[in-house]
Amino acid sequence: MRSLKCEICGEETEKLMSCALCGRKVCSRDFDEVKGICEVCRETLCEICALRLAIGICNECGRLVCEDCSVKVGAGYLCRECLKGVKGRA
Ligand SMILES: [Zn+2]
Ligand SMILES: [Zn+2]
Ligand SMILES: [Zn+2]
Ligand SMILES: [Zn+2]
Repeated sequence: MRSLKCEICGEETEKLMSCALCGRKVCSRDFDEVKGICEVCRETLCEICALRLAIGICNECGRLVCEDCSVKVGAGYLCRECLKGVKGRA
């Protein structure tokens, strides 16, 4: 017998969705249909583009940033928006 279990909440469900980012099989409550990703990924998503997983936190604004939206500065990161502010302060 095969039971479908959500990999986040562990509850059995009729239908499982597959997260486009991590591949977890999750129930509809733990799935963001608009983005096609699971709840866990949604919480670790870049706050700038909201498309990719974050790799760090911006030193300036404290937002989660992905590789594409940030530049590594020393031990931390700077998001592209803060970077603009730093550079474009004229
Ligand atoms: Zn679930
Ligand atoms: Zn996921
Ligand atoms: Zn991003
Ligand atoms: Zn920032």
